[in-house]
Amino acid sequence: MRIFMIVRKPLYALGVFLIFLGFGCQDSKVSNSLVTSEAFRKLPKIDVHAHYKYPRTYLPDFFERWNMKAMLVDVAIEKGDSVVNNFENYVAHYMQFPELFYLCTTFTAKGIENPDYADRIIAQLQQDIARGARMVKVWKNFGMVSQDSEGNYIQIDDPRLNPIWEFLAQNKITVLAHIADPEQAWRTLDDPNNPHYNYYNNNPQYHAYNFPEMPSYEAIIAARDRWVASHPELKIIAAHILSMSNNIEAVAQRLDAYPNLSVELGARFGDLAMQDTDQVRQFFEKYQARILFGTDYGTGQEESQLSPEVVGAEEESLEASYQLLFDYLTKRDSMVVRKQKTKGLGLPKEVLEKIFSKNYLKFLADTK
Ligand SMILES: [Zn+2]
Repeated sequence: MRIFMIVRKPLYALGVFLIFLGFGCQDSKVSNSLVTSEAFRKLPKIDVHAHYKYPRTYLPDFFERWNMKAMLVDVAIEKGDSVVNNFENYVAHYMQFPELFYLCTTFTAKGIENPDYADRIIAQLQQDIARGARMVKVWKNFGMVSQDSEGNYIQIDDPRLNPIWEFLAQNKITVLAHIADPEQAWRTLDDPNNPHYNYYNNNPQYHAYNFPEMPSYEAIIAARDRWVASHPELKIIAAHILSMSNNIEAVAQRLDAYPNLSVELGARFGDLAMQDTDQVRQFFEKYQARILFGTDYGTGQEESQLSPEVVGAEEESLEASYQLLFDYLTKRDSMVVRKQKTKGLGLPKEVLEKIFSKNYLKFLADTK
């Protein structure tokens, strides 16, 4: 949900992006793009992880220009006794532009100790699916936030969730799973150049290092792995590259071990950029059928509350943000991604076609 920051401070964020792009242009005089920019514009794209909660006048043109659709992903955040989510906003946006968007609902562990918990969640999901939801997101609430009445953290492999997974597997509904956070969340925040420095600096409530009572990174990842392994019929897209984007070898191990697993790239391009470009390219080529493009970009306020200047800056920032990710995937130029100096992957057209749309369209084709 990083663009929420951009939406709140768009001019500042725009400045940041311009700085990034400025650096990126320095030593990229010759583009050796493997696809021409015009062909790439026309390439069908699906951003499978987006949070466009509120419409924007510019968005329909923006998506058409890039031949792109987006999955509107609801997030449920537990705060004390209440759960905050925005499904109605996403439904309204989806209904307004059904040709541009897909819809993804969510649920939390709230009430998991009640005997009717799973039935109640399944009934809610049935309603959401009837209203257009094609996917269900589970968020890092599981593992890092939700606790039972005795203070135990609820992990994603909790057996009380099993009826929900069985319902989703039977109905061939994919789960988008953001479980755990980057390992950096459990470590000290001493390197301003780390791609996650700003997020944990701005969101100390998720900097697990500050909360020694929170389960360890390793414990949450182990619970996640057990969950994936024990539901082979459930189709899972692991958001944010499995929360292990700093270590593509570990990601590859999971993809080898669990055939029901795919990964989504949102907000983890900086981690990829820190690793050896050739190895990252080989990873994309080897697992090209199981990697999906996503961004985590979205809108956090209604357009009517923003001045035209702010909306204009937001659009420019969004264009620059997508362009940088597109450049990283399609070109082999030197560039800077989330403060990391790197070279683009310059992936072949067949790989780009898959990660940008074909892989997700396969998920949809498998739906009942
Ligand atoms: Zn997200």
